Amino acid sequence: PATAALVASRVLDVPDFPKPGVMFKDLMPLFADGDTFRQVIDGIVAYHGRESFDVVVGIEARGFVVAAAIAYATGVGVVPVRKAGKLPRPAYSASYALEYGEATLEVHEDAFTAGHRVLVVDDVLATGGTAEATLDLVERAGGTVAGFTVLLELAFLGGRERLAPRPVHALLTV
Ligand code: IMP
Repeated sequence: PATAALVASRVLDVPDFPKPGVMFKDLMPLFADGDTFRQVIDGIVAYHGRESFDVVVGIEARGFVVAAAIAYATGVGVVPVRKAGKLPRPAYSASYALEYGEATLEVHEDAFTAGHRVLVVDDVLATGGTAEATLDLVERAGGTVAGFTVLLELAFLGGRERLAPRPVHALLTV
């Protein structure tokens, strides 16, 4: 679809970031281009349907950019899923393994109204650890996952399989 070509035209490959051997996909050019950003946001909303969710979750930090735009476009609110230690009130935590060490994400315990349908968004799906932890947090906090969308999926890292059977929507898969 048209949005796949748009994402492809606004992603930069950065070799050896954040460490040697890793090819980092930089979506800052997409965020910086107003026309493209708007079409990408509208494409996500059209895919899911604006009646299919009650709130949007963005994953720190680039997910916040996407989530806030979807929320404004559809008139729903935003809930942040944050890295450990950033939220001021009681929060649920979910940890997952990284290549070296582990990472922890958190969401406020009262973030969702029971049964609220939650659209979860991030910029890139890689191994799926971040998304898996986030979807767990949403459910523990009483939300119902209505969908998970990323701008870019790195298929060779297996995130989609890790999240199965939960559906993943990606504007562009490489
Ligand atoms: P995962 O947990 O391995 O799926 O990594 C996904 C998380 O790391 C997302 O929050 C992304 O923002 C970030 N990430 C991983 N790889 C990249 C990349 O190549 N470009 C931008 N973000 C990335």
